[in-house]
Amino acid sequence: MIKLTFVCQDGVTAPDLMDLVRAYSPHVVEEEGAPLLAVEPQDLGDGFAVTIDYAGKTWSAEQADASIDPIVRRRHYKRFVKRTVYFVLKELTEVTLPYGSLTGIRPTKLYYDLLSEGYDPKAQLRDYFDVTPQKIELIEDIVAAQKGIYKVDLDRYDQFANIPVCPTRCAYCSFIAQVYGSVKKQIPLYADNVAKEVGDFFDLGVARRAIYVGGGTPTAIPAVELDKILAAFRAKGEEFTVEAGRPETLTKEMVDVMLSRGVTRVSVNPQTFKQATLAKIGRAHTVDDVLRAYDLVRDTPLDVNMDLIAMLPDESMDDFAHSVEKAIELGTANITVHSLSIKRGSTLNLMGYDNALDNSLALRMSEYAYHRLKEAGYVPYYMYRQKNTEGRLENVGYTRKGHACTYNVDIMEETHSIHASGAGAISKRVFDEEGRIERLAEIKEVKGFNERVEELRAKKRVFFA
Ligand code: SF4
Repeated sequence: MIKLTFVCQDGVTAPDLMDLVRAYSPHVVEEEGAPLLAVEPQDLGDGFAVTIDYAGKTWSAEQADASIDPIVRRRHYKRFVKRTVYFVLKELTEVTLPYGSLTGIRPTKLYYDLLSEGYDPKAQLRDYFDVTPQKIELIEDIVAAQKGIYKVDLDRYDQFANIPVCPTRCAYCSFIAQVYGSVKKQIPLYADNVAKEVGDFFDLGVARRAIYVGGGTPTAIPAVELDKILAAFRAKGEEFTVEAGRPETLTKEMVDVMLSRGVTRVSVNPQTFKQATLAKIGRAHTVDDVLRAYDLVRDTPLDVNMDLIAMLPDESMDDFAHSVEKAIELGTANITVHSLSIKRGSTLNLMGYDNALDNSLALRMSEYAYHRLKEAGYVPYYMYRQKNTEGRLENVGYTRKGHACTYNVDIMEETHSIHASGAGAISKRVFDEEGRIERLAEIKEVKGFNERVEELRAKKRVFFA
């Protein structure tokens, strides 16, 4: 383990470099009074240079760069400085990170960017960013699976509504999800308000591509309230997903409501098929609840997604493999494999849980899921990375052929504007093929949203004007 305090002469690149230092935890620890890792980057006009000093040793690097566009130039500059720091940390620790110097949350977006900039993405990922062959294979599989779905389209929008309410709070949760009991009285008004906001979409006069209702757990609210929101979308055969993540909330009545409003896809999330773990992570449901919920939807036309999490507390490789097997056996259209991300606001973090940072186990679980799911007929079709993810890995959505969720691809690759409604929802507007994006966030809590909904609707009208 090496200890350092970190300083960068260029304030713009410092946060990016901090992500890299954190990605190297626990092999690199930032500690007050430890030797300084000093990074001094320079834009030379026809290229970039950087000098790095640490504990009496100096590294220098240079790279030619002829780019003129200031945004592209800045991007190249950051990549170069980050890459150089990465190779210094790699030398000091003798540890290679699966994603090399990439700390961004969307490796596939980088792949498309590299392609549009005229590079060979595979060679760049391997030689410039030091991404491992396994992760390059994953990225390339995803790009291949996105053929026919991936498309920057400025004229068609996706539509999203957020219901940030859950029956109880999971121990790893860092979302602004409120417990249903604490906002119960607000929910009828909330459903009316979200329905109004959803209806505003039709004033934009744009075509719609896909609909997604997420949370929280949308099925944590009464079916009659959920129905108001779903009806407001006036779905006409588009892909239409509703997250019913917590299986104990899914009832026959809910399923009937969804089917009557044109829903085509639902998420029922076991996270693990090990009962003891469910109790540890504060999921107030059982493995049997998952099976019961799945029984309600398995013979309907709904595509089902199941989320699993790798690196849950005290789970072994066998536990995780059992969960993957179980999901395969149930035969759902999609299986999404997350790497546990312990965020600051979560109970697990407050409990001091850090999975003992067994990065090699995290990597083995991720590789196991990739190979086993492919063997069982699934392909990876979208991915994203989160900060604080165990093993600095990724979350990957797998699908059976022909069942990929368009909305998931759109949101990860940022190819479509999104009209989003409800507390905590973030609307997104994509302005050009180069991917200039603006975002508009709503109030995060249900009560505050109810109080200020008219102001939020007005702001959104201006945003999308
Ligand atoms: S179901 Fe999801 S949003 Fe709800 S408490 Fe658990 S992790 Fe948080």
